[in-house]
Amino acid sequence: MTLMMTISGVRGLIGQTMTPTLAAELGLAFGSHLGSGTVVIGRDSRPSGPMVAEALTSGLLAAGCDVVDLGVVSTPSVGVMVKELRGAGGVVITASHNPIIWNGIKFLTPDGFAPPPDEAEAILNRYRSRDFTLVDVERIGRLDRDERTNDIHVARVLEAIDVEAIRKRAFKVVLDSVNGAGGSGGHLLLDKLGCNVIHINAEPNGRFAHTPEPTAENLGGLCDAVRSHSADIGFAQDPDADRLAIVDNQGRYIGEEYTLALAAKFVFARTPGNAAANLSTSRMIDDLAKLAGGDINVHRTPVGEANVARAVRDHGCVIGGEGNGGIIDPRIGLVRDSFIGMGLVLNLLADDSRQLSEVVDEIPRYVMIKTKHEIDRDRIDTLLKKVPQIKGNGVLNDADGIRIDWPEGWVHVRPSNTEPIARVIAEAANAATADELVRRVTDLL
Ligand code: MG
Repeated sequence: MTLMMTISGVRGLIGQTMTPTLAAELGLAFGSHLGSGTVVIGRDSRPSGPMVAEALTSGLLAAGCDVVDLGVVSTPSVGVMVKELRGAGGVVITASHNPIIWNGIKFLTPDGFAPPPDEAEAILNRYRSRDFTLVDVERIGRLDRDERTNDIHVARVLEAIDVEAIRKRAFKVVLDSVNGAGGSGGHLLLDKLGCNVIHINAEPNGRFAHTPEPTAENLGGLCDAVRSHSADIGFAQDPDADRLAIVDNQGRYIGEEYTLALAAKFVFARTPGNAAANLSTSRMIDDLAKLAGGDINVHRTPVGEANVARAVRDHGCVIGGEGNGGIIDPRIGLVRDSFIGMGLVLNLLADDSRQLSEVVDEIPRYVMIKTKHEIDRDRIDTLLKKVPQIKGNGVLNDADGIRIDWPEGWVHVRPSNTEPIARVIAEAANAATADELVRRVTDLL
């Protein structure tokens, strides 16, 4: 299956399924759905980006929408610019951390937010039924470009953090942008924060310098650079710069779960309030909320960025995120954003005289185990019916599969939406306990 068309977007292979015809018709579908107004388009740095963007733009113009082309920018920057330009909608052209052969199309609402499922479905149905409105010549849309995206996005981030406190520390930072879309904005932000920046894989040419997912096995180069430059911190962005991974001052990859933990630790200290995280995200954020005192609620949501973003908005959270290094700060937007992630973590370090490794070591540490089990659809349903049997003194949440929290740890079982697979994730203070929590579920199989 090389074309994936779901409510979170469309993704296909270049030379096979992600064709100019598809992009133009999705542009027509989105444009016909909106009827009029301005659509703001940005793309990541893949070489296929212009092909997809121009075809999509053509469809939007033909349906009577105006288009503002932002060029190569990060995914969260498109969210910022949709609001800035009071757009009727936005489009991000990216396949995130997937290899260069993929590209994808994601729609955004005027709030710079993924459309709710019924609206996303309505747009795709228009595409499937060729329900397009082609306007006459007087109403053909107008195409403009806007070059200000990085300046505007960075300015929003600077307004949200203590720039003076960070500048005083003159941090030495290694930034790995994997030749993706976040390099120029990321560098601009770190310059404004008075950092001494060592920028690796900085060219936004889409020729990813390493496997682009910002996980431990792909960031050896960043760890080495942090050590050889004796840097205070290393940051890794994914190709569309919505995810952020961190390497500490000792050159240790600390894991993407810590991105949200560190950002939340800072936000809870400076501007306490509620938080949102998905059900597969570490318990560290709950511990940090307790340590911060007061009554901070951590709202747990189904997996998926849009679910976290909706919870942030609906519960007035001060921070939200996912364990994959995606930070949502509603002051900037409701899209996961590596720029504000860097800002919040540097502000945490500026407020704390210690090195990052010491700050990390003080946060309650867990081991998370993620397993996958091949199982057909009806057996998954049977499994989910049985899971409550193991609840005991635990707390059960069935918003997305089932998660049970016990004092010693938690387990989350959830069916994959696309494959006949059940994912079982457990977290505990040590590997033996986490294993045992996974077995509580797999014994039911
Ligand atoms: Mg991404």
